[in-house]
Amino acid sequence: MREFIAIFKELLHSAQSALARVFHWRRGLSPQDMEQIQQQRMAANLNRIMLSNVLLILFQTMNLAVDLLTKAHGSYGIYFNIGALCIIAVCLLATHWVLVILRDKSAQGVYRRSKRWFILLYYFLISILILGFSVVDLIERNSLNNFWALVVYLGVFPVLEAREAAPLFGLSLSFQLVVLLLAHAPANHLQQCVMLMMSAFVVNQVFFSSFLSTQLSRIQLEAVSHVDYLTDLLNRRGMSNWMETHKEDLRGRQVACGFIDIDYFKVYNDAYGHLEGDDCLKKISDMVKAFFAKEETMICRYGGEEILVILPGLDYVQAGRRFDALRAAIRKADIPFQASPLLDSVTVSIGYATQSVFEPGELRDLIRRADDALYTAKKGGRNRVEGYVRQEMAS
Ligand code: GH3
Ligand code: MG
Ligand code: MG
Repeated sequence: MREFIAIFKELLHSAQSALARVFHWRRGLSPQDMEQIQQQRMAANLNRIMLSNVLLILFQTMNLAVDLLTKAHGSYGIYFNIGALCIIAVCLLATHWVLVILRDKSAQGVYRRSKRWFILLYYFLISILILGFSVVDLIERNSLNNFWALVVYLGVFPVLEAREAAPLFGLSLSFQLVVLLLAHAPANHLQQCVMLMMSAFVVNQVFFSSFLSTQLSRIQLEAVSHVDYLTDLLNRRGMSNWMETHKEDLRGRQVACGFIDIDYFKVYNDAYGHLEGDDCLKKISDMVKAFFAKEETMICRYGGEEILVILPGLDYVQAGRRFDALRAAIRKADIPFQASPLLDSVTVSIGYATQSVFEPGELRDLIRRADDALYTAKKGGRNRVEGYVRQEMAS
């Protein structure tokens, strides 16, 4: 009996997780991940609409050819089929034209989310169109050919999640049932239709969850490849990705760039060992992250114990104040460093530079100036902040 309960629980658990995968997949995803997935879906929507339309036209042509060969067309005649093909072709051409409008011309590969409703409307209208043909087909010559077209169509349209697909299926299904009931269709027709619609829904959801898991692995891989394992800060790849996505925001703005370097870190490693050194580096990284938590920043582990910070919107004086407050906070945290030639706790030196009208192409130059300022801070005795412009002023 106990075994039976265990098996039952196991079955229940796998059914639950299968359902959760299909319906509650949003769990554990950040809003940024969601936005990325939505964009991917918009892009995929366009491709799949193209694919499903090609399949639809092929299907309709095949129907027409079979009708011509077997002379099996119903009482409505062959012109009905030809007419249907033309209507579908015209509808699809028009739709493609509108879908192209969906693309955001300013940013390549980005789709206007505000126009997402159009895809749903399109999906619904085309389903109703095929449905109309299917019902006529079913009533006139007892054929389910067009329903299969619908299954194919809905099946290759896997980018609708259950939340969106379910109401559409529900609507199509009720529409279809009403038409069949009004036409006094036999009970087995109704059954077949429901079965076909349900299988289309399942096919759709299976496609959708596999699409989603591919997207998820891609996003997770990308996230891992952009973050430094030890410090959890962005790595160099993450930084260049951040720059790429923010360059338009930054263009023309004030931007400050700071280099943070731990003082005598080699001595720290020699005194306490590399594992302790790692812990210290992690603590400093966490402090930098927490310090700028409420600001728009990019924080990256630039090299061994060097952290690069980009702070948009700060001028030279403001940036100097922020970086000095950070330096003081790290000193105040009092991470023991008895062997330090400087003080008895860990300190950092910071060099920074600012640009009043930022151009993305000038980032290298900004970093170089911050680096020069860091060198000056080190030479000037460490545990201090130096700005590049001040140097220029002094000379
Ligand atoms: P300065 O005050 O001039 O910056 O002196 P420094 O000793 O910090 O500078 P230096 O560039 O000579 O040495 C940097 C050291 O940082 C050398 C290296 O062992 C250590 N380091 C770099 N990356 C890591 C890391 O991931 N973990 C640990 N434990 N140490 C690291
Ligand atoms: Mg150092
Ligand atoms: Mg260094």
